[in-house]
Amino acid sequence: MTVAIGRVVVLLGAPGAGKGTQAQILSERLGLAHVATGDLFRAAVRDETPLGLVAKGYMDRGELVPDAVTIEMLLERLARPDAAAGILLDGFPRNIAQAEVLDKALAEAGGRVDVAPYIEVPEADLVARLGGRWICRAGGHPYHEQTRPPQKPGVCDLDGSELYQRTDDQPATVQARLRQQLGALDAVVNHYRSNGVLWTVDGRRTIEQVTGDLLGAIVPATGAEARGSK
Ligand SMILES: [Zn+2]
Repeated sequence: MTVAIGRVVVLLGAPGAGKGTQAQILSERLGLAHVATGDLFRAAVRDETPLGLVAKGYMDRGELVPDAVTIEMLLERLARPDAAAGILLDGFPRNIAQAEVLDKALAEAGGRVDVAPYIEVPEADLVARLGGRWICRAGGHPYHEQTRPPQKPGVCDLDGSELYQRTDDQPATVQARLRQQLGALDAVVNHYRSNGVLWTVDGRRTIEQVTGDLLGAIVPATGAEARGSK
């Protein structure tokens, strides 16, 4: 059975680049189905679809779900009525191998990746965004160096207890983890650049400005119509 494949937008960005936030805004404004692969797995497992059961087998064994299974789920998702206008992929492909499998599967179904907007944020900014978290010892109250600093450095506003950083939030840990992810992301970015569908957006601007830039990339490439101004 062949189905008409809608538009496919692959939203790219490092952790901390604001990809999830933008994906939600964009899917609402453009009527595209927001597809995050984690949600796909959970829904398929919950609904006990044939692919969901296959995926569950891998997850139960603590193994990664193979790309081929993920792609099958994506194609099923693309065929659903709410995806008629198209889908916005968030978090997939994560590496070059997945990008190539996706291209092939879409081509076989008569579709393609229409545009791959990339929310670019310099590594130093990402480290600051991802690693600036501090927690108070007494109540676990959260702070962030950039977005929610305490009134007095190192002290909780609410109970005066000391603020500390979890190992996970310390700059060295954040940077090491980020480096690994950025390597794979770079390869995916280059893949779409050489396919002529990459559109780079400056992720250091405000959420509204970034949304505007992304719409400027997606609307012409997909023919989608933006609704509402807010
Ligand atoms: Zn506190």
